Amino acid sequence: MSRSPNLHTYDAILVRTSPWGERDRLAVLFEANRGILRARAISALEPGSKLAPYLVAPAIGRFTLARGRSPIPVLASVELADRLAGWRADGISIRVAGVALAVLEGLDAPEETNRLFFQLAMDLLLSNPSAHPLSALAVFLVQALGILGLLGGEANCSLCGTAFTADRVAAAPDLRTFICAECFNRLYGKAEVSVILVNREHLELLSLMALTPLADSGRLEMDGDALSFVFSLACARLDNTLPAAVSALLPLTAAPCLA
Ligand SMILES: [Zn+2]
Repeated sequence: MSRSPNLHTYDAILVRTSPWGERDRLAVLFEANRGILRARAISALEPGSKLAPYLVAPAIGRFTLARGRSPIPVLASVELADRLAGWRADGISIRVAGVALAVLEGLDAPEETNRLFFQLAMDLLLSNPSAHPLSALAVFLVQALGILGLLGGEANCSLCGTAFTADRVAAAPDLRTFICAECFNRLYGKAEVSVILVNREHLELLSLMALTPLADSGRLEMDGDALSFVFSLACARLDNTLPAAVSALLPLTAAPCLA
């Protein structure tokens, strides 16, 4: 949306801000089509700044950017639609929002992918953070993996292709491949190999999560083990593409607190 040749207004998610020199702040935004946009908030570090109170991430609003000679536009004005204060209310909510925002900031994707991620992030941020924040994050991550083409085939043995029937399935330590008991015995017999066992139920949960609207994530009733599995899987698969998101997510992979 354009108001003058140099002023452009975007509906966006405020992802992060950081100091820029001694007076200004850098605001990092995520817009539905363009993905990450950066803007310089002049004097936002100074006492009495009019912009500063609006620059607390995460937030959703309308941001007007003035393009000049500098490659980074100036943030001319902000109208917040939602301050999303609930996501800053406790440690778990802050962590969950931090993972989602790190995913957005790390994306380098075409417009269509940006639009899907914008909607997914809006669904998460507009859900009630105090209800089931970790379940909501798990659904967010599984659907993010789906959009990026990093999900699928977990219901079948990666070697012989048959659907899993046993309660426990052998997994590579990085959770990238899953092997049925028959293939495992044929390959390794009694040799000691580095492998972990995962519940088949957890693998089945992935396909359910891929189809569950984020607002309904609380209904999936995931326990700490299931959440830990999903977070570990997301860490393994996003490691190359979204390292900052993985760093934010790692502390949650070990038996996340369900409080
Ligand atoms: Zn097999």
